[in-house]
Amino acid sequence: MSINLKSSKNFSRLKNILIIGNGGRENSLAWAIQKNEYVKKVYLIPGNAGSERINKCERLTIDINNKSELAEKLDSLKIDLVVIGPEIPLANGLADFLRKKEFKVFGPGKDGAKLEYSKSWAKKFMEDANIPTAKFWKVNCLEEAKKIIYSSSTPLVVKADGLASGKGVFIPDSKDECYKSAESIFNGKFGESGDVVVLEEKIKGPEVSVFALCDGEKYIILPTAQDHKRLNENDKGPNTGGMGAYSPAPLLSKDYLDKIVKEIIEPTINGLINKNIDYKGVIYFGLMITKSGPKVIEYNCRFGDPECQTIMPLMDQNFVFLLEKCAMGNLTGDEEIGASDKVSGCVIATSKGYPYEYKTGYPIKIGKVDSIDCQIFDSGTSLSKNRELLTDGGRVLSIVCQDKDFDRVFEKAYKNLKEIHFDGIYFRNDIGHQVRKNFSREN
Ligand code: AMP
Repeated sequence: MSINLKSSKNFSRLKNILIIGNGGRENSLAWAIQKNEYVKKVYLIPGNAGSERINKCERLTIDINNKSELAEKLDSLKIDLVVIGPEIPLANGLADFLRKKEFKVFGPGKDGAKLEYSKSWAKKFMEDANIPTAKFWKVNCLEEAKKIIYSSSTPLVVKADGLASGKGVFIPDSKDECYKSAESIFNGKFGESGDVVVLEEKIKGPEVSVFALCDGEKYIILPTAQDHKRLNENDKGPNTGGMGAYSPAPLLSKDYLDKIVKEIIEPTINGLINKNIDYKGVIYFGLMITKSGPKVIEYNCRFGDPECQTIMPLMDQNFVFLLEKCAMGNLTGDEEIGASDKVSGCVIATSKGYPYEYKTGYPIKIGKVDSIDCQIFDSGTSLSKNRELLTDGGRVLSIVCQDKDFDRVFEKAYKNLKEIHFDGIYFRNDIGHQVRKNFSREN
């Protein structure tokens, strides 16, 4: 069933949308939401410099931790829908608070966000619901970790239990390195997030991201994606928040996606229902396609970044209605998502030094870039006093393009990148290498 815009009873209510967050993900959500003709205004708290270039968007400077001020402001702005982007406010119960104040919110409550903010909880949840995932051990101290590490017959991966901005996972090459990783976590590398450590069997296979928009009971699946987490070409170097992505992931056939739905997505949603968790938001399934089938590597309670920037340009203007339907608990589950039949790719431009230390405040110059089927979503930027665009984060810009095939997509993205300059700019030249027929390492 597709949503009929004109007859939709939603449209009069959806004038003012608020997005919480300050990255490329939130800018791409704002860009997709403003496309809806009934949306009058998209507010971002706090957004970034790039938010100001998006039609209908306005940034607000409100401290989201000052809850009473936030609720008052949203009342006065007549906000019809709140979309919470990042995991931290979700883990802190912002969605619960706003729902109590009778706002419509896209984003799970604290109970649902636990899928992301406690890896040990998520692993136990999967075990209980019989969802395929790597074998695991939850450990509370280094001695316990040591016993498991040195007696294990298979290589292990080490994870801090709590939120660690995507940096809490170690993939060691030896038992000693594995022990050292566990030691560094228990020694406070990630603060309280490392009070508990999860050791996991190391599994192998390509990774894909699947997103389900969920209303507490029903769900719909967005186009699939693959991202590149490693800093350097050839998928080498340290893990990052993500250096690029492409969508959809050709690796997943319709039949294989059906298998994922049956073995992973539905058991996850049913598992949440069985725990009385009314999950209204997106569930990100980070999956590994192993020889023995798909396995969950991790859940996130939010859109992935840069997958979100990659997928949003494929959405039609009804996207915001889908978010609202999730927030209201009235998805039918067979809405058409209205995805474009084009494919999309994203390359992230980072500051020199990322994901370790880096400097900010360098002027960004953007020359002549394509405007059709090409977007530049700011990930980490700010404006100087005289409104010059400056770098203001590790990941600075998301360069996104769509076309009929991935060769054209990345040709355009890299052409546009030649027009973008800032001191220390770094990006990988091989994003999407798996799906670029014309790609060779000599390029
Ligand atoms: P996570 O933050 O849990 O997604 O982990 C970050 C990355 O570490 C994943 O994208 C995988 O590449 C890798 N990883 C996580 N868990 C495992 C595992 N059990 N076996 C192999 N690689 C893993």
